[in-house]
Formats: sequence, C-alpha cells, structure tokens
Amino acid sequence: MSNKKFKTEVADLLQLLIHSLYSNKEIFLRELISNASDAIDKLKYLSMVDGNLKGYSFDPKIQISFTEEGERILKISDNGIGMNEEDLNNNLGTIASSGTKKFLSTLTDEAKKDSNLIGQFGVGFYSAFMVSKKIEVISRKAGEDQAYIWSSTGETSYSIEPSERDEQGTTVILHLNDDDTTYATRWTLESLIKKYSDHVAYPIYLEYDQTHYEDEKDENGNPKKTVEHKNEQINSCSALWRRNKSELKDEDYKEFYKNNYNDYEDPLFYIHTKAEGTTEYTTLFFIPKTAPMDMNYADFKSGVKLYVKRVYITDDDKTLLPTYLRFVRGVIDSEDLPLNVSREILQENRIMSAIRNGSVKKLLGEFKKLSTSNPELFTEFIKQYNRPLKEGLYMDYANRDLLLDIVRYKSSEKDGYVSLKEYKERMKEGQKAIYYIAGGKENVLKASPLVAAFRKKGYEVLILDEDIDEFVISTVPEYDGVPLKAINRSDAMDDVQSQEEKKEAEEKGAVAEKIASALGDKVKKVVVSARLGDAAASVIMDENDPSVQMQRLMKQMGGGDEEIKPILEVNPSSPFVARIQASEDEEKTKVLSEVLLGQALLQEGIMPSDPVAFASFLSKAMAY
Ligand code: ADP
Repeated sequence: MSNKKFKTEVADLLQLLIHSLYSNKEIFLRELISNASDAIDKLKYLSMVDGNLKGYSFDPKIQISFTEEGERILKISDNGIGMNEEDLNNNLGTIASSGTKKFLSTLTDEAKKDSNLIGQFGVGFYSAFMVSKKIEVISRKAGEDQAYIWSSTGETSYSIEPSERDEQGTTVILHLNDDDTTYATRWTLESLIKKYSDHVAYPIYLEYDQTHYEDEKDENGNPKKTVEHKNEQINSCSALWRRNKSELKDEDYKEFYKNNYNDYEDPLFYIHTKAEGTTEYTTLFFIPKTAPMDMNYADFKSGVKLYVKRVYITDDDKTLLPTYLRFVRGVIDSEDLPLNVSREILQENRIMSAIRNGSVKKLLGEFKKLSTSNPELFTEFIKQYNRPLKEGLYMDYANRDLLLDIVRYKSSEKDGYVSLKEYKERMKEGQKAIYYIAGGKENVLKASPLVAAFRKKGYEVLILDEDIDEFVISTVPEYDGVPLKAINRSDAMDDVQSQEEKKEAEEKGAVAEKIASALGDKVKKVVVSARLGDAAASVIMDENDPSVQMQRLMKQMGGGDEEIKPILEVNPSSPFVARIQASEDEEKTKVLSEVLLGQALLQEGIMPSDPVAFASFLSKAMAY
C-alpha cells in the first residue's frame, strides 16, 4: 500500500473547493464526463496512429450508475486510455492542467471567496470533492494488464494499490456527501447530462431502476410493483454542428446554444457553414442577443471553441477570430489540423489562418446580407455590436469595404442608424463629400451650429458620438469613391458657403484680427464665415489637427504633451460679434472675446480650460 501526500497546490485547491460556499457544485459531472470523453479521444487517436496501440479496437462508451439507497455512490466509467500507477500519481496527485495552476496562483484571497470564479474556470477532476467525502478511481491503461485503485478523502493524502478491471479505462467512484444525495437520483443526473454533455461525441449511458405500479394489490392492499432495471443512452451523442443543416430544427440550434454558451436567452441568429475545398472545416457561430458582459474588457473570454474532428482542442484562444468579432460564440471544427496542435503552433498555422480568414469573410458577408434580408433583426444586431465592428475598420484593412457596409452611424436627418450606402444614395447633387461630426454626445453634436449650416444647404451630417469614432474615422479616407470629411475642420468650411457669401464675410473680416489679438495664444487663429446662421461662433480644427476632445482623451492615456489650439470661427453678422467690433475699450473687447470663445466651446460640449476664469469673464460681460 502506498500512501502519498498531495502536492501543496492540490491540497490548497481541495481546501478551497470543499470550504467555499460554492453554489454551482453540479459542474463536477461535466468535468468528469469531459475527462472520460478526452480519455476515449486519446485511445481512439492512438488506435489510428502508428504505435503499439494501432488497430486497437473498442466500442467507446461512458457509463454512469448510482445507488439510491444506503451509502449513495455515483460511478462514472469510461473505456478510454486509462491510467497506470505512474499516471495516477502524476495526474491525480498534482495539478496536471497548467490552466488550473495559473488560475490558483492568480486568485487573491478576495477572489477565493467569490466562488463563482471556480465554475468559470472548471477545475477538473478535483471538483468532484465538492460533493464527495471519498473518491476512488479504478483504472487500467490500454495495452497493460494491471489495474490500480487510487483513493482519497480529499484531505492531505491519497493511496494507490493494485486492483482489477476487465477492460481498459477508468471508473471514478464518488461516495457522496450526505447533503449531496441528489446526485444519486435519475432525475438530477439525466438533466445534468443533457444540460452539459449532450454533444459529447460518445454515448453516455445511465443505469437506473424503474418502478412500475400495477392495478393489482399485494397482500397488504398496496399496489403491486415491479422494478425494471434499465440502461439508457441519455445524450444525443452527435456534435450538433456535424449534422446536416437539413435535419436540424431552429429549436435544436437554440437549445444547443443555451446549453453550451451560458446564456438563458435564445441567440439573435446563428450561422452554420460547412466549408469544402482545400481546407475542410465546419463552423457554427451564434450571435448572442445581448452583448457579452465582458465584451469591452481587455481580458474578455473568447467564445469560440476549436475542435479537430470533433475532438475538443481549446476554448481559450483569442486568435481564433479577430478581436473585433469577440462577441461571436460557437464552434470551429477542422478536418485538417493535427490533433496535437499546440497554442503556439495554432497562431502561425497556415490551415488555421485559412480557417480564420474564411470564417471572418463568412460572418461579415452574413451580417451584410442580414441588413437587407431582415432589417429589424439587423437593427437589433447593430445596437449591440456596432462598436466592436467599428474597431474592425482600422484593424482589418482587408475587410474594410465589407465592414463599411455593415457599421451604422447616427444622422442629422433621421432617428436611429443609417448606413453609408443609404447616405450616399441620398446625397444632394453637387455634394462632394460624406460629412460627419465626431467627438461628443449625440445631443450636443446635433445642436452644433455647424450641423445647422450643413443642413441648411441640404447636406446630411453623420453624428459620430461613440468614443472611438473620431480616431477610427480618421483612418477611413473614403467610402465607395466619396471622401469622408469632418465638418468641424477648416477644410469643409468652403463646402457650405458660396463665393459671394465668403467674400461678404471677409469684407467684415477686421473683427477677426481684433478678437485674435484679444485672445492671444488661446486659439490657433480666428476666421470669419457666413455659414453659422444664428450662432455667433464655433470652434473648428485645422485639417490635420486632433480635436480638443481627442487631445483630452490622449492626455488621459498619458500621451499628447503638445496642446494644439482650435480655430475660432466667427459670424460677423451676429449681434454679439458686432458688439466686439464696436467696442473701443480694450478690457471690454477682451472680456467679450473670452465669452465668445468659452460659449463656442461649451456649445461643442467642451469645458473651457479654466472654468473659473470663464465664469468671471461672464459676470463682467453681464455688466456691460
Ligand atoms: P484536466 O482534465 O483539465 O487536465 P483534471 O484534473 O480533470 O484536469 O485531470 C487531470 C488529468 O488526469 C487529465 O489531464 C488526464 O490526464 C487524467 N485523467 C482524468 N480523468 C481521466 C480519465 N477518466 N481517464 C484517463 N485519464 C484521466
């Protein structure tokens, strides 16, 4: 008999599992079934490749049984690869999975209390100690005769002894805690298998006794009963994505999604594709109805699982799809990748990159199609995912044209969202560019006098109110041959003024110099225009300068030392500017000019850089 101590990290993990008030204990069954399925995968694989197990024949099966009376015992048995003495020591005496190790080392004391974290990571075999006071594992490795039994109460040590087993494989025997007897009932087991393991590629059988009551009474007057012993396959056993689209119902997809992607809502839609040709693979992608909570965190969890010929490889690879598609959930199953593909290899693998490119094209193509085939659904989609898709505009140059047809913007002319295509179709004759205004809240942008100036001319203005818009749009020079132009840049000024208007304004241009000298280096320059309508002034930027909002954002992120000043555009016909024009008092000119600049900034949703000084200029101005 050999009695051994667990490695400290295992002991720590066990303590954590057993003593945390973990609310989602049931995942232990998923973990054990997935270990069983992995073990069968391994044996199947070895029976196919060269080696001493080549040609090994067996009938893959996972068998679950339980005792409902007396001591409650739950057994999970597989006929997979099995473990010998050394494997048992290495795999169940230490923490084999590097993911689990890393998980443990990053857990702070605070996080340890938040036991839900545990379920997200899945801690494998050891999670069975959450429901068991003792666990035995009887295993026999394929190709070897001797079986062994591993046994532990989950405290500090375990033992391994020789044992017997007819076939290769592993039986995990759980002696359930008194509080966890529900895991020895048909109902619970059946529903958990369906919930978590329905698409496991091998049949999962559940053995149970079914009691029938008959009309006839026994000698005590009770209905006669007979007990029938059953052994039934519970899972549908088919990796759903491998089945033909034609034999699948909408419900099948929805159930599959909800069971496997931790969502209680139906998906918004799904895309099931079998790619044939030089690379063969199947993809089944789901778009969640509601954007995943972690979508905008840097450490979001990838939602796509990679399989190779139904054998699960990883669900933790953020490079399976580009990050701007991080909201997509689903499965990629390849025919051509090697089974033992490692994460490092995956990132540089030619087949993988063909799969990735094909998947992206497929997804974007379907998104675009949806915009015409089902506009309502598309609107729901855009409400959730417009922002990440916009990231694609600068990250994925190769697919930019496709993305430009998918992303949507708000508009000065319509509530809701418009497409660039729609905008282009509505463009006025003679209109030279697609106009937009970026950097601020929707209501502020919409109220800008510049927007009013463009609308007056009959030009629609796109309202870009998301934080990344200004940066992203600056990387997009044109859409379908039409340049994109920011209306709050000097370059777009002339687009809404006729030559005569311009000339007329310039004749009154002396006031610009007066204001410029009063404001000193607070502005880059002061220009006059005839386009502002009722407004006295507006702030714009020189063609290649970042906006004030963007500069502030960059500063927050620790960059952009040099401050680039805005241009003050003034309307010489407004009464306010006329007062400055008429002022002969230097102090008064200064005060009114400061107020003019301050209010122009506020109008664009920008706080003047010195609000206290602005307030004091304002109260002085009231006295004039
Ligand atoms: P993980 O499955 O994440 O590697 P586990 O703690 O669940 O971590 O299992 C540790 C190791 O024990 C597995 O990697 C595998 O090598 C081995 N193992 C677990 N269950 C079985 C089984 N049913 N048959 C064969 N090997 C198993």
